[in-house]
Amino acid sequence: MPITPFHFGPGALIKVIAPRHFSWTIFALANVLIDLEPVTLFLLIGDPAHPWLHTLPGAIAVAAAAALFGRRPCEWILAWWNRQLSSGWQTRWLVVETPIPLSTAWLSALIGTFSHLGLDSIMHTDVEALWPLISGNSVQGLVSLDMLHGLCVAAAVVALLIFISRPAIRP
Ligand SMILES: [Zn+2]
Repeated sequence: MPITPFHFGPGALIKVIAPRHFSWTIFALANVLIDLEPVTLFLLIGDPAHPWLHTLPGAIAVAAAAALFGRRPCEWILAWWNRQLSSGWQTRWLVVETPIPLSTAWLSALIGTFSHLGLDSIMHTDVEALWPLISGNSVQGLVSLDMLHGLCVAAAVVALLIFISRPAIRP
């Protein structure tokens, strides 16, 4: 599957561990942007390949696009989200910090694309994550797909448990 929500689990875990230094929204955007590659290629040639963006320079380029052009739209989405919350428990539990500092955007975007390459390298034979430094893919199949998905879901579950148990530190 070219776009998988499993990538978002580890991002959620990072978010609850370092909420003020990590933007899950930018992280998610970077993950979606990088997978425009296999989606577009699938629509054009029927093959969801990963030849350019799923490489070292490709991942940096996508992260730059997400950090530089995605920051404002992500802030608008977060502000819109906050406006939908009614006072009381929703505000207490679900309100989010709106500003995304540029350094946070860069860090989150890079974590997004690099973690994406890591997971995709295990999933797809054609992903050459370290090209042009290292060609080929020596980690494909290192962990079974079920195990990989299980770990991503487990990360999301742990993130949820931490989120529920630490309301006092939530911004
Ligand atoms: Zn991908």
